[in-house]
Parts: sequence; structure tokens; C-alpha cells
Amino acid sequence: MQPTTRLTASLAELKNPSYTGPNRCVPCTLLNVVIAAALSLLLAAAAVAALSTEAGVLLGVVAFAGAVATIYFRGYLIPGTPTFTKRYFPDRLLALFDKAPEPTAWEEVDPREVLLAVGVVVDDPEIGDLTLDPAFADAWERAAATHWTDESTLRRSLGRLAGADPNDLDFEERPHSFAALADGSHLANWPSRAACVADAAGAGLLPDWDPDWEERSLPLQADVLGVLRLFLERCPACEGSVALSQDVVESCCRSRDVVAATCRDCDARLFEMDVDPAMLAGE
Ligand SMILES: [Zn+2]
Repeated sequence: MQPTTRLTASLAELKNPSYTGPNRCVPCTLLNVVIAAALSLLLAAAAVAALSTEAGVLLGVVAFAGAVATIYFRGYLIPGTPTFTKRYFPDRLLALFDKAPEPTAWEEVDPREVLLAVGVVVDDPEIGDLTLDPAFADAWERAAATHWTDESTLRRSLGRLAGADPNDLDFEERPHSFAALADGSHLANWPSRAACVADAAGAGLLPDWDPDWEERSLPLQADVLGVLRLFLERCPACEGSVALSQDVVESCCRSRDVVAATCRDCDARLFEMDVDPAMLAGE
């Protein structure tokens, strides 16, 4: 290993992944840089008064550089900033930094109506609720098992869905997300690999059920597949049973209310949608 590579690697290890990289919180970072600047100025002013102008400037610069490095590696300087911003920053201010939760609104067509219209989801009078057509459920489970064990099948199905070359696809797996990239640019995001597998398997079956499938827009196809995951009864990863719940997801400086489907056995998150807590309370 080159010395510089080793240095980069060990610096990367120092980083706190919860608050840096893609998880870095802009409001928290800005707030901390402002606090760091104010503290460094105070320190510099005190040193100018007690020692000399040169000592003051030097101390201020060193203190500010140290603080910025801390923010870079840890995500914040003052412990508890995420809780602080969550509690005291108004939602309108956080929205400027794209941190406001966005309750999902369907674009053109309600994906639930598509699933009902083509018969993939049916109204079961026995249980008094919507459920998957048994033939679709069987085929979907079998397809998911193949997509889970064989990555080339997964690549082929995703490539066909997104109109990308299966060989150009890359996957990025993190604790709470699974992303697909085509030629290095972001293609789609799922809450887990299992959720991605469910979509890839479903996308292969839907053209047989929905005569208009190929004509539907990719965002609508993605919405339909996403809603379909709400009806999963077995986890594509481990065949465990799937539980629906209302949940609060804590991100850096904000908590989001979500409706979630999670595997009881392996804990894979299969579906997650931001919801308006007022709407939940009203229901
Ligand atoms: Zn599972």
C-alpha cells in the first residue's frame, strides 16, 4: 500500500459514518462552523489581551483549524448538536437544507389502483382486506428466491427495468440502504437489498399481468413496485414473515414518521414511506 493511500485509509477510519459523508447534516455542520468561529475569536481576543497580538492571531487560527478538522471527521464539534437542531431549528429552516420530511404524493396514477385493476392485488372478502392474488404471490416468491441467490439475474432484471446495461450496474450496500448505480451515476435506492430483489423479481412478472406495463413511466413503475412490497408476506432474503408497523426513524437532526414493512427474522426493511404524523393521528 502506498503511504498516501494508507494515510487516506486511516483518515477515513477516523470518520464517524453516522454524521459524515452522505449522512453529513448541512444545518448541523453550518451551526458548528459558526460556533467554532465564535469560540476561536473569543480565544484570540483573550490571548491578545493577555499575551500579544501575534499570539492571539496564532491561537485563534490553530483553534479554528482544530475545530474545523473535528467537524470534518466527527460531523459536529459540540456533542448533542443533532438533538439541539432537531429540537430548536424550525421545520421551515431545515427545509431550506432539504431536511424536511416529504410525505409521499403519487404523481399521475395511484399505484394501488393499477395493482387492483390488473388483478395482482385483490379484495379478499374472507379477511376483509386487500391481498395478493395467490398465483402472483407464488410466482413472485419463486422469482425473488432466484433473484436473491443469483446476482446476474438481479442485474438483468434491473437493467431491463431501468434501460441500462446489466454489466454497467454497481451496487452500494449500507446498513439502511441499498443503491444501484449505472455508470457511476445514481439509479435507484431501496431500504435494503431484499427490497431491491423484491422489485426486480416483481418487474419480471408484471408485464404478464398488466398489458400497459411497458408504456408506463419508470417513476410510476417504481411506485407500483414499491407499493407491491407492502403486500409481501415472506421476506425475499430469508423467507421470514413480514410485519407492518408505524415507526419513527431518527436521522441526524430530525425524526421522521414512517409506515414500514420489516422482516421479523432478519430485520430487513422492505418498505418505508414517510407519512404525515397528523394524517396518521386523523386516521
Ligand atoms: Zn428476512
